[in-house]
Amino acid sequence: MEKLQNFIDGKYVAPISNAYFDNVEPATGQVYSLIPDSDSEDVELAVAAAEKAFPIWSKMSVEERSAILVRLSEGIEKRMDEFVQAESKDNGKPLSLAGHVDIPRAISNFHFFATAIIHFSSESHYMEGVGVNYTLRKPIGIVGCISPWNLPLYLFSWKIAPALAAGNCVVAKPSEVTPYTAYLLGQIAKEAGMPDGVLNILHGFGHKVGDAIVKHKKIKAISFTGGTKTGEYLARTAAPMFKKLSLELGGKNPVIIFADCDFDDMLSTTIRSSFANQGQICLCGSRIFIERSIYDKFKEAFVAKVAKSVVSNPTDPKANLGALVSKAHMEKVLSYVDLAKEEGGTVLTGGERVILDAPYNEGFYVRPTVIEGLAYDCRTNQEEIFGPVVTITPFDTEEEALMMANSTEYGLQTTLWTSDLKRAHRVADQAQSGIVWINSWMVRDLRTPFGGVKASGVGREGGLEALRFFTEPKNVFVKY
Ligand code: NAD
Repeated sequence: MEKLQNFIDGKYVAPISNAYFDNVEPATGQVYSLIPDSDSEDVELAVAAAEKAFPIWSKMSVEERSAILVRLSEGIEKRMDEFVQAESKDNGKPLSLAGHVDIPRAISNFHFFATAIIHFSSESHYMEGVGVNYTLRKPIGIVGCISPWNLPLYLFSWKIAPALAAGNCVVAKPSEVTPYTAYLLGQIAKEAGMPDGVLNILHGFGHKVGDAIVKHKKIKAISFTGGTKTGEYLARTAAPMFKKLSLELGGKNPVIIFADCDFDDMLSTTIRSSFANQGQICLCGSRIFIERSIYDKFKEAFVAKVAKSVVSNPTDPKANLGALVSKAHMEKVLSYVDLAKEEGGTVLTGGERVILDAPYNEGFYVRPTVIEGLAYDCRTNQEEIFGPVVTITPFDTEEEALMMANSTEYGLQTTLWTSDLKRAHRVADQAQSGIVWINSWMVRDLRTPFGGVKASGVGREGGLEALRFFTEPKNVFVKY
């Protein structure tokens, strides 16, 4: 069986412990490769390599760094098909999704930051008759990047691309649930001409190798995307060491639908915002609030469309939904359906596991699920499920919709549907979230600030925000 390896100092190497654990294919429930069970000793090796590489990488001209990152982006593009297949197999998502979203976006992430760094500039502050301040923006040194399983290479590259572009050396860890495309990336980086030690990729469990990255004294900043509980632990660990921290955490996003919206556009987009990637996108809308006058019309049309969604193996071109990422996650999602019933909810469609024909009969498939009749403040409507489960709830006034939308501890994304321009701006202004989409969903401009408020995170990724995070500003004053 294939053994994945760590990528340290420009070479693929086995973990020092020589221990591995299983990598399960979600579509079949079968083990198909082995993942290095790395620990703090592997982190030491990666940090030593990064330390050695830092003077080379940080002093290289921006144009040279940029060219290497452009080649890296092109290197993925040349092997697009291999990456798409690998992402789908590792994660369970439909091939079409990996081919249209995940891998193209990873390619864009590298290309975007490769070019952004050329245009990055710093401020100067002139003091009339006194002198001038200018701000240097220096790379931090060695930084840690830790990413989740839902959009594996997409989110991994979203961190390491700006970190590298800004001149840092990186010790990165993809999720142990979906390590494969990050594993492939090492070779691409090498072929692109990236100096050894600049990018180091370690595999293994969060509580082991992830924790060792967060605790390492020479790793000066941590960029993390994952669950809120993990983020809280990271903050507690890294804050006393005065590390720079960027935390992109969980969500429980509301979708607010007013009666005056473009119904057809709203309906087809709401299907996507609910169930794309099996509902496993931090930006998916999981609580849908509908103005009462169109509640019944929406319910009927939405449930009919959801019930027709095709749940199938990820290689089936007809699949709207593939497999959930793991058995444990599938069980967690289904436990929330049970909870919703206990809390008085009615399952309008879905709510159960789907058993496909062999060889997919042990895969982790769940029918897309719509639940109504729940209080806005019950656990089902407050806790992150992160699967193909949404609730629908009517509202009477804009104030009530906002109150319910803003009622969770999270604040990542709010989607609004209305054709009233004034209301759109007013509600967007009051939504407690870092991102608002009006009459749309998942339209991403890589220059915009990305992140959440409340328990959805601290800091912003994207565009200049990411380049600022991965650099340390130093103010220099010159007297006239
Ligand atoms: P997770 O928190 O379990 O794991 C995320 C990463 O952190 C993994 O690589 C994991 O190995 C590592 N990790 C776990 N414990 C660690 C520790 N003690 N020290 C260091 N590293 C550790 O999250 P997950 O289950 O992989 O991902 C799903 C979560 O991610 C959901 O809550 C989802 O909302 C969130 N998410 C957020 C965003 C965003 O942009 N805000 C994007 C995608 C996913």
